[in-house]
Amino acid sequence: MRTPDVLLRRLADAVGFEHVLSDDTVTAGYTTDWTGRWHGPTTAVVRPGSTAEVSEVVRVCAAAGVGVVPQGGNTGLVGASVPVHGEVVLNLRRLNSIESVDSVGRTLAAQAGVTVATAQQAAADAGLMVGVDLAARESATLGGIVATNAGGLRVVRHGTTRAQVVGVEAVLADGAVLRRWTGLAKDNVGYDLVGLLTGSEGTLAVITKVLLRLAPRPVRVQVALVGVPSLDAALEVLSANVDAGHTVEAAEFFHGDGLALVRETLGLHRPLGADYPTYLLLELSNVSEDDVAAVLTGCTAVGDATIGPGPASRLWAYRESHTEAVSAAAASLGTPAVKVDVSVPLPRLQSFEDEVRAVVGARFSTVDVITYGHLAEGNSHVNLLGVPDTEAEDATDTVLRLVVDHGGSISAEHGVGRAKRRWLPLVRSAADVAAMQAVKRAFDPAGIFSPGVLLP
Ligand SMILES: Cc1cc2nc3c(=O)[nH]c(=O)nc-3n(C[C@H](O)[C@H](O)[C@H](O)COP(=O)(O)OP(=O)(O)OC[C@H]3O[C@@H](n4cnc5c(N)ncnc54)[C@H](O)[C@@H]3O)c2cc1C
Repeated sequence: MRTPDVLLRRLADAVGFEHVLSDDTVTAGYTTDWTGRWHGPTTAVVRPGSTAEVSEVVRVCAAAGVGVVPQGGNTGLVGASVPVHGEVVLNLRRLNSIESVDSVGRTLAAQAGVTVATAQQAAADAGLMVGVDLAARESATLGGIVATNAGGLRVVRHGTTRAQVVGVEAVLADGAVLRRWTGLAKDNVGYDLVGLLTGSEGTLAVITKVLLRLAPRPVRVQVALVGVPSLDAALEVLSANVDAGHTVEAAEFFHGDGLALVRETLGLHRPLGADYPTYLLLELSNVSEDDVAAVLTGCTAVGDATIGPGPASRLWAYRESHTEAVSAAAASLGTPAVKVDVSVPLPRLQSFEDEVRAVVGARFSTVDVITYGHLAEGNSHVNLLGVPDTEAEDATDTVLRLVVDHGGSISAEHGVGRAKRRWLPLVRSAADVAAMQAVKRAFDPAGIFSPGVLLP
């Protein structure tokens, strides 16, 4: 028997024959990422059904010296959820049970393969909410949002995923199971391993269960879509609402060019009476429509606005469909979009975006720049359409160097993955990278988890 056959047999012993996929036609959906830019061969896709099975798969792969890429919904945007050199894809989607919702302690305990949408529904059924939301909610998993420390639409109100995670269970590189699960608001014993695993991008351990903090559901919610001349004007409108004492649940932005793509892709009507250079989508709570209208009327920066009761408002589609619309536009050009998720200090957001358009336009004359993102965190998703594959690195480099010039971060929320690993030294010192490498060695001495992700 050849070595791969032995490995496949051992994996089948661990999870059952039907949950080890090795035929290329079946594994294709697991070996190409959401952007279509990242893909690679795999020895097998393995779909364990319990923590014990995850542990056994890790032991088998470690003994065979084969890399393991943990995978949830495969919606990650930095190339970290797919194999490159034949690693085993450890897909967690069969771990899909909600274990409990504690409406007094306000926590939700679930297996890592539960989708964000399923967790949100379970929380809603108990009159509560998950503080993390993102457009990929139907596919993205709890393990995935923890592993990437996902941001999303509600960071302005609840913080990133790290602020919601109060416990994890994870399988370590030797197959041992680590469980930090007290759920206590105060538990100050030792290193914060839960915080460390959050955002570790599959490089330190496989997360098998998650204990999330839940939040009260907002009341008297209004959603407003506001047309403004610029990002600076959008920030002015956001500040006016904060100053008026309105609770900001979400503050998102996009521009006229992105809106045109969204309208074309989804066949949506123009949302306001006229077109504007920039749009601000605000979700506010503890307010009436009149309260919001009064503040918007007082802002000279507001061109036009529409306000309606939320949180489920049709206005959200104009913002949430941007990722999908950009992908559709890229597909029609025959080359995936170059996606660069970054953040800069708020006062520099406008000048950063102006410079990106100018510099990219000068260097790559046929490229379209579409940006949108999470306004309150200065988080811009820069999408470059029409960049040939051979120039993708160069285009990314151009954008990331501008980010650093503006005092920003090369990854606001999507992580580093494989896509941005090369640029880590732009924002992390040698001592910082060495400390992270030491952590990696301590958790995963043989380097079996997600080789080539995050660290040089
Ligand atoms: C339409 C769209 C909108 C998006 N919007 C946002 C947004 O607003 N904010 C945001 O932050 N991201 C956003 N994303 C990116 C993506 O959805 C998030 O990164 C999400 O957290 C990934 O979850 P996943 O289950 O799909 O993980 P995957 O894509 O499968 O994996 C992502 C990373 O996590 C690791 N991983 C996954 N599961 C585990 C596990 N159980 N244990 C250990 N490691 C694991 C993988 O190895 C990989 O490194 C968006 C993506 C799309 C397609």
